[in-house]
Amino acid sequence: MKIGVLALQGDFDAHREMLERLGVDVVMVRKPAQLQEIDGLIIPGGESSTFLKLLGEAGFDELKRFVTSKPTFGTCAGAIMLAREVENPAQKGTGAIDIRVRRNAYGRQIESTILTSECELPGGEMEMVYIRAPRIEEAGPGVEVLAKRDGHPVLVRQGKVLAATFHPELTGDTRVHETFLKMVRNGAAGEKA
Ligand code: GLN
Repeated sequence: MKIGVLALQGDFDAHREMLERLGVDVVMVRKPAQLQEIDGLIIPGGESSTFLKLLGEAGFDELKRFVTSKPTFGTCAGAIMLAREVENPAQKGTGAIDIRVRRNAYGRQIESTILTSECELPGGEMEMVYIRAPRIEEAGPGVEVLAKRDGHPVLVRQGKVLAATFHPELTGDTRVHETFLKMVRNGAAGEKA
């Protein structure tokens, strides 16, 4: 099993380290052709508008083809890339998961926050690092909510797609990545375990 990490910009290296710690073969994806080699993809945090610029139209279309058919996990800017609708300001999303997100929803003053929230994954509550985080304003009926902050979903799953508005790659807690790896092994969303 090979997991790709989109390595155009942002904190892709933290995901690589986490995956290597979990004994996974990692491919740093810099060219669309590399999407052919991988079984699942992680889109890291960074600036979603910069991802769009660096991808261009053709790159976006190839990414969209992948994320709408194969297991994908997006954190923060990565979650924005996976959304159906993006606001503040509006920009395109791949629509891989039925969520509407608001970029930088917690204001630019508070750049980063660490909070502990209840989480549906085995082991319960989780420490979550937020950096200029988006907020999920709306999640469709097919979206499973695995954790919330102030009533808004922060960890969601729909089919083969997992999205977090926080950065699980920046803590020592490997549960979110392990959940994604399980989804890749199952070829789709499985049980909560
Ligand atoms: N503010 C960024 C965006 O809107 C996301 C921040 C992050 O990924 N840490 O794309």
